[in-house]
Amino acid sequence: MSDFDIIVIGSGPAGQKAAVQASKAGKRVALIERDALLGGACVHRGTIPSKTLRENALRVNNMRKNAALFQFKLSEDLEMATLIDRLDDVMKSHDEYMRRQIDRNTIKRVHGRARFLSPNEVEVTSVRGEKQVLATDYVVIATGSFPRKPDQVPIDHENIFDSDSVLSMLYLPKSLAVLGGGVIASEYASIFQALGVRVIMIDRYPRPLGFLDKDLTDNFVNAFQDMGGVWMGDSVVKRVYFDGVNDVITELEDGRTIITQKLLCAAGRVANVKDLDIDNAGLELDERGVIPVDGQLRTRVPNIFAAGDVIGPPSLASASMEQGRRAACNAIGLKVGSMPEMIPVGIYGVPELSSVGMSEQEARKAYGQIIVGRAPFAEIARGHISGNQDGMLKLVCDAEGRRLLGVQIVGEEATELIHIGQMALLSKSDVDIFVESIFNFPTLAEAYRVAALAVIGQRARRNSVY
Ligand SMILES: Cc1cc2nc3c(=O)[nH]c(=O)nc-3n(C[C@H](O)[C@H](O)[C@H](O)COP(=O)(O)OP(=O)(O)OC[C@H]3O[C@@H](n4cnc5c(N)ncnc54)[C@H](O)[C@@H]3O)c2cc1C
Repeated sequence: MSDFDIIVIGSGPAGQKAAVQASKAGKRVALIERDALLGGACVHRGTIPSKTLRENALRVNNMRKNAALFQFKLSEDLEMATLIDRLDDVMKSHDEYMRRQIDRNTIKRVHGRARFLSPNEVEVTSVRGEKQVLATDYVVIATGSFPRKPDQVPIDHENIFDSDSVLSMLYLPKSLAVLGGGVIASEYASIFQALGVRVIMIDRYPRPLGFLDKDLTDNFVNAFQDMGGVWMGDSVVKRVYFDGVNDVITELEDGRTIITQKLLCAAGRVANVKDLDIDNAGLELDERGVIPVDGQLRTRVPNIFAAGDVIGPPSLASASMEQGRRAACNAIGLKVGSMPEMIPVGIYGVPELSSVGMSEQEARKAYGQIIVGRAPFAEIARGHISGNQDGMLKLVCDAEGRRLLGVQIVGEEATELIHIGQMALLSKSDVDIFVESIFNFPTLAEAYRVAALAVIGQRARRNSVY
């Protein structure tokens, strides 16, 4: 008989939910984690640390905007530790909470590095080098991802950082080059710019966050540049090096050179399987460098499932948790439907961006004619009151201006506001629901009503023409 019904490798959002779900179903579960603390990249190197820094960046930015109220200047040589001051407490309490949850659910915690010996046997090496072999019926691989390291960028974690090491900078730099235009690059670039660092964002594509609605990314780039940041699109990096004294030099293929004090390389992430010996289990990575799975999150080896960043996009903590839960359910034969198609995307830049369903461009491509209603936050009472006038909410609807296809939001609170639109999309409500219901006043959520009225107005005009 196996030692466990299910072994989960990795204690990030995907692994944690997989382990808890399996144990709640009465299974014997082991959760293997090589780090001393539980929580994965999400807690220790990703979501929580970057959002903690962002909170302080927002405060700094607000104080600057309200210069008439506050005499405010950030001190020179500000220590990074001051800016992520509550992080240790947040991480420790998260670890503590997870430990209690894992123990309460009688999940066996195993501290060590896991590798496959076969599809049903996992070897764990402890920090002291002791080895144990655990036999299991099922495995969920939830080992996450790590930053991609392009050949031309010699990351030394002192002058040239990746997204796992950037918060280990001792002092807030005066200038920072950010390579990349994806989610992590956009978040950190705008957060550091809001803190007063001179940030230059460099990417090979014409605009950052190219998968998002263009109105949103235009608004993001404008806000970033209004804060003093520089966006350099269509720029290919040839070589990066530290000059040995003070600066990092970035040479572009078109001959331009950018000099900054520090550099952050945020050029995507790759599946973390380096210690797992997945070939012993009969697995291999696909051409995108991730573990391929089917709609049930099952790998090509029937008793092995995978979830979270290790299977590729959307690479979000939110999606990873649900994948982990579903992977465990599928492994132990608990009925779950397929993963929802509509996953909201939240980007915690300054400003926030959030999206669910189709962008205007995607909807035009799919349906030809569509109706779009916009509500600039400047037209919303709460926007005036809170000085939060830079955002916008967009409803994308079908040609009749009735069926909602997507919701796009930029501005503070975008990542919270999006859930109202998500519920309307999931319940297949007509856009009229935003006019027929009563929103608290004054709220930013009222933007839904204003945008819906804009859609209905266009619908009426269109109908009167025909
Ligand atoms: C800077 C940054 C900001 C982010 N911001 C957000 C955000 O705002 N919102 C959001 O939804 N997502 C965000 N993300 C993404 C989010 O962090 C990831 O999608 C999420 O952590 C993936 O969860 P996971 O469980 O797949 O893997 P991880 O969280 O990476 O956990 C994997 C775990 O597996 C362990 N492990 C690996 N190999 C082994 C082994 N051989 N043996 C034992 N243990 C092993 C690792 O130590 C780790 O603890 C951000 C990411 C970054 C980098």
